[in-house]
Amino acid sequence: MDEMQNPSDHAGELEPNLGIELQDDVEGDTLREECGVFGIFGHPEAAAITALGLHALQHRGQEAAGIVSFDGSRFHSERRLGLVGDTFSRREVIERLPGGMSVGHVRYSTTGGTILRNVQPLFAELSAGGFAVGHNGNLTNGLTLRRELVKGGAMMQSTTDTEVILHLVAQSKRNRFIDRFIEALRAIEGAYALVALTNKKLIGARDPLGIRPLVLGDLDGRPILTSETCALDMIGARYVRDIEPGEIIVFDEDGAHSHKPFPPKPPRPCIFEYIYFSRPDSIVGGRSVYDVRKAFGAELARESHPDVDVVVPVPDSGVPAAVGYSQYSGVPFELGIIRNHYVGRTFIQPTQSVRELGVRMKHSANRAAIEGKRIILIDDSLVRGTTSKKIVRMMRDAGAREVHFRLASPPILYPDYYGIDLPDRGGLLAATHSLEEMRDIIGADSLAFLSIDGMYRAMGYASRDPANPKFSDHCFTGAYPTNLTDQNQVEPQPRQLSLLAEAS
Ligand code: AMP
Repeated sequence: MDEMQNPSDHAGELEPNLGIELQDDVEGDTLREECGVFGIFGHPEAAAITALGLHALQHRGQEAAGIVSFDGSRFHSERRLGLVGDTFSRREVIERLPGGMSVGHVRYSTTGGTILRNVQPLFAELSAGGFAVGHNGNLTNGLTLRRELVKGGAMMQSTTDTEVILHLVAQSKRNRFIDRFIEALRAIEGAYALVALTNKKLIGARDPLGIRPLVLGDLDGRPILTSETCALDMIGARYVRDIEPGEIIVFDEDGAHSHKPFPPKPPRPCIFEYIYFSRPDSIVGGRSVYDVRKAFGAELARESHPDVDVVVPVPDSGVPAAVGYSQYSGVPFELGIIRNHYVGRTFIQPTQSVRELGVRMKHSANRAAIEGKRIILIDDSLVRGTTSKKIVRMMRDAGAREVHFRLASPPILYPDYYGIDLPDRGGLLAATHSLEEMRDIIGADSLAFLSIDGMYRAMGYASRDPANPKFSDHCFTGAYPTNLTDQNQVEPQPRQLSLLAEAS
């Protein structure tokens, strides 16, 4: 191993114990990642800028954060469990990440398998030199490729599908690094927005359908690649353009080079970025997420508009849709629920019982706004029904006379395999219950969801065209835009194999 290339990885005191690692489940783990990525080239304070960018992307992943920098001769790596600020607000940490180029990552996984060696950016020593990569998305053939690689002798260090990309690049026989990288991308299926670093280049790549977002920014002439424009705003960088679906962009001393190695296909960006995942102040695919969410709310009001006194958002995710609902319907908007911002997202708790506890910790009724009133609650989406059930009860306990519930997205009927954390079908309330059953479980006086065509109308289309759906809307329709190779495997996935790999 070349001493100069070996990163100084400060794993710190958070290195997990072996017991936790052995419980880790490769399959579950790879299906449950939500992430944000950031990369910058040619800035003297690359790591500090990356840390700020990751702060803005914190909503995309709260379990771990990492930055890898390159200083011209060595790579440096800091990867920790916890929030970005827990680690990267400390000056000594940033000082351990010198260099003019860096990539960073925030990660969110709900399984017990959050272990330090899954924290990205991952780093590998290749024959051509060091290579760091951060990935937002999920590969739908990641387990299949992993099994083949392990059979072929690869020793996996992590349980993420991202590591498969490192091995594929390492094993490529092509000469130029970019050709090896492209060869690796040709082998993978699914969703990816990647930022990668070599000792000469910052590389960004977006999957051929553009399922996950990736944008290009400019900070005083220095290129930035990141998941969302809110990270550009955070650091005062200018938005340049979206990285195109299937585009690979490389920045080095000679400037920018764009590669488009895949046959063009109609893009299918994930509609869940607009519904829930992205920050409302981001511009995704040329659309303001805030405006789209308001339009979802307005469509919802157009589709069903019971006689109520106030519109109450479920904070924070339901707020823009509730504004849209209120503006369209003319029903006053009230903050009937106050959110405690110092607890994590509901889903961060691994078990249902703890999750239910989490909801109570997170929301409180604002009695002054709802007592004696007929209210309509607006949330962005319904997954397990945990939030809605608790909130309806809370509203009744606080004196609401009628409680109607509306969701600013259609019923989620199918799991996601592209990097959004949703349960399997059995855990999705709408996939297992009728509308009336759901209304009863939630305890609302009425319940309705935005229609699929209403969702498309909010996006500016007359309706959903099944021949050209424009978005990845598989959670609602089951129309998965890529092969689901791992899911379709007849042979069970190699859990023992991966556990052995972990134990070694
Ligand atoms: P549930 O309480 O299980 O029905 O989940 C619905 C709530 O979770 C809504 O308030 C959503 O804003 C939020 N939500 C939706 N999708 C996700 C996700 N993938 N990860 C975390 N929270 C989500």
